[in-house]
Amino acid sequence: MTNLKNFDAKANLVAVSHPLVQHKLTILRDKNTNSQLFRSLVRELGMLIAYEITRDLALSTRTIETPIEAMNAPTLANDNLVLISILRAGNGLLDGVLELIPSARVGFLGLYRDPTTLQPVEYYCKFPSTMAVADVFILDPMLATGHSAVAAVNKIKSFNPKSIRVVNLLAAPEGIETLSKAHPDIQIYVGAIDNKLNEHGYIVPGLGDAGDRLFGTK
Ligand code: URA
Repeated sequence: MTNLKNFDAKANLVAVSHPLVQHKLTILRDKNTNSQLFRSLVRELGMLIAYEITRDLALSTRTIETPIEAMNAPTLANDNLVLISILRAGNGLLDGVLELIPSARVGFLGLYRDPTTLQPVEYYCKFPSTMAVADVFILDPMLATGHSAVAAVNKIKSFNPKSIRVVNLLAAPEGIETLSKAHPDIQIYVGAIDNKLNEHGYIVPGLGDAGDRLFGTK
């Protein structure tokens, strides 16, 4: 795998190096891991990563009464969090992230790659009405070429949200480069940075096709 130091200079990249994340990623990558285990691991990774991606969310306070006395207790300053799942593999991460942030609203964005132009084409979009005041988290297990991620961020930026973060389990250096060049203002969270893309656009060593492995379609 790529030395993370190569990427330390990129202020907008956070590599989630927690040992549990790394351990679960190893089982996930293993070709002998079946769909059932794969799904539950992606869900667990979603929970662990949710912890990291929300680390710097602003807090305010609200007055509550404990059984003992009143207090000003911390609470999220912006409770307009929106999770955007990039179909279809993003749905695997969604469940785990929602487990930790149950009040988040959810949007879905479907993109496919045009076989002739190789550019991402939108085929489905359903976003919450709160996008303009939201902190947005884009969920997609794989950041490969980065073209879909750039298209997703373009689309989401048109709603002018408060912030955008992209959340991936595995990323190729090419994808990080493409995304951070196109959108240097957004934060990218990754579980691991792999070596490269192969000629079919798969991450190497990667884990194969995340959608197929999640949903048993191959
Ligand atoms: N999408 C996947 O599911 N896997 C890859 O390796 C690249 C893109």
